Amino acid sequence: MSVAVIYTDLDGTLLDHHTYSADAAKPALAALRKRGVPVIPCTSKTRAETVHIAAELGLDGPMIVENGAAVWIPEHWKLSRTDGALSDESAWCHSFGLSRGMIRRQLAILSIEWGNRYQSLCDLSDRQVMSITGLDAASAPRARERHYCETLVWLGTPADRIAFAEQVEALDMRCVQGGRFVHVLASGGKAEAVRWLHHKIRAEWPAFRGAVSVSAGDAENDVAMLEVTDLALLVRSPVFELPNPKRAGGIVISDQIGPAGWAEGIEMLIERLEEEEDRGRLLSQRHDHNAA
Ligand SMILES: [Mg+2]
Repeated sequence: MSVAVIYTDLDGTLLDHHTYSADAAKPALAALRKRGVPVIPCTSKTRAETVHIAAELGLDGPMIVENGAAVWIPEHWKLSRTDGALSDESAWCHSFGLSRGMIRRQLAILSIEWGNRYQSLCDLSDRQVMSITGLDAASAPRARERHYCETLVWLGTPADRIAFAEQVEALDMRCVQGGRFVHVLASGGKAEAVRWLHHKIRAEWPAFRGAVSVSAGDAENDVAMLEVTDLALLVRSPVFELPNPKRAGGIVISDQIGPAGWAEGIEMLIERLEEEEDRGRLLSQRHDHNAA
């Protein structure tokens, strides 16, 4: 039985914004593994990138990638497949919207007006990706393996970006501002993907029937996810202001930045949940004792 499932952003949250290191969160990750609390990446990164990072961090469960446009679920999790799911030898994929090719075709309508103010990440060379992201030579090609969302390097002003987003919405798609890029999605998103996956896990795994959802994020593209989970952790960023998720309660803001803030906030939330569970168990034992 697990008290929670953690859905976490990677860049700037579990990974340091500048160095991409998760070292400060590793003891907390090991403790969660021991307690049987799954940590599920929910990121704008591609599957190719996330598989690599997850392996380094010892995470072998599902992953939500490309800003929530797709969820990859390993076979060993034994969740029921959705119709038409793509798969490879180790996992299957549930996607929420159009392919990247279709999104690009739609965006072509806007390219006469806007084409000189953005560049697709997938059209850049490895060297260009490395200089924008700080990724190394091995990681840069993985960042371009996008299948369900189109990721843009924005060259115009912030005001241009808002006007562009309105035109994207008129085409039934939407723009999501990430830590470094603008992502164009046809549907889905981190919040929708987390809600879908958490419902599935609770419905199909008896041990998780009572598990609460906990999200962790640092940026504007995490806000919707931080609003839909039972509990939320806002991790301080070294580069931007704290976003402002609208919640009635159940949110913690880290004191420290990046992975150190992640560890601090997640440990506090999980301990609080476990205390509540112990209190609940004690009360029900007392109730049973009194009834006897
Ligand atoms: Mg982030």
